[in-house]
Amino acid sequence: ASEVAPETSDDPPIPEPVAITSRDRVVFPESGQTKGALADYYATIAPVMLPFAARRPISIVRCPQGRGKKCFFQKHDSGALGDAVRHVPIREKDGGTEDYLYIEDMRGLLQCVQMGTIEFHGWGARTDDVEAPDRMVFDLDPDEGLDFTDVKRAANDIRARLADIGLVSFAMLSGGKGVHVVVPLTPGHGWDAHKDFARRFAEALSIAEPDRFVATMSKAKRKGKIFIDWLRNQRGSTAVLPYSARARAGAPVAVPIAWGELERQDNAHPFSIDDAKRLLDRAQSKSLAGWGFADQALPDV
Ligand code: ATP
Ligand code: MN
Ligand code: MN
Repeated sequence: ASEVAPETSDDPPIPEPVAITSRDRVVFPESGQTKGALADYYATIAPVMLPFAARRPISIVRCPQGRGKKCFFQKHDSGALGDAVRHVPIREKDGGTEDYLYIEDMRGLLQCVQMGTIEFHGWGARTDDVEAPDRMVFDLDPDEGLDFTDVKRAANDIRARLADIGLVSFAMLSGGKGVHVVVPLTPGHGWDAHKDFARRFAEALSIAEPDRFVATMSKAKRKGKIFIDWLRNQRGSTAVLPYSARARAGAPVAVPIAWGELERQDNAHPFSIDDAKRLLDRAQSKSLAGWGFADQALPDV
């Protein structure tokens, strides 16, 4: 007879830490950061990133051989990314359903990074009700040659117009060229109302100031203007998530910024994955307290 009592425990198993292989692989050739450095960035920033990234359908940008090589956008997988990269079934237009990706913890973040992920993009809705959007994003895309001063002024104008109709908004530097104006919303309306509101808001701005703003995709009409990309607000669209790294030269990151601090910025990519500790401190500072959160319903206008 065995002398060792069988293990009986109701405790959940302690999850394995995520093993990151090829830590020395250079992911950002221009500035030299490796896959290990990227994983360390996400491990550090996870506590302040997860409130925005967890339990939302995500798309990831994977560049398994580094950002200079082939990268791809991915919104489905067959389970190969890891056990902490979870699936949520979402109804498709054709009536079927597809499993979309989401994460809920640091393990999920790091399993994606282990599989070559650089960027995390999220839906404007949570997995508990993907038909009830909780976030609107106005993605300001300046035409080439426009000054960042113009982008900042545009973001502030949008903030003021939103405030006029009772909505609090927040600014995020995309890590690329533009600013995203983020409007947290209490779920309670559907995607049609969400998209319609975003479209009408952007159109009103382009009609009021046609020399500065354009609300249509058409490249030809964008010359010297800022495209207010309201199309981020359709069902199924994504926007880059706060604190996501970007697959761009220098390993920049998308970062929340207080309105008062936006004034002092010279471009949309002042931080990189090298700044993890600074970003963490900053995220927990007074100026960013409450960034991205507000209990406000979409107005009935
Ligand atoms: P920038 O400030 O440089 O414009 P950005 O993140 O706003 O940076 P955009 O090109 O304006 O970049 O894209 C806006 C959003 O559209 C992205 O954050 C992403 O979520 C989504 N997007 C872009 N390209 C794709 C793609 N190929 N497939 C799916 N979604 C995409
Ligand atoms: Mn953009
Ligand atoms: Mn855009």
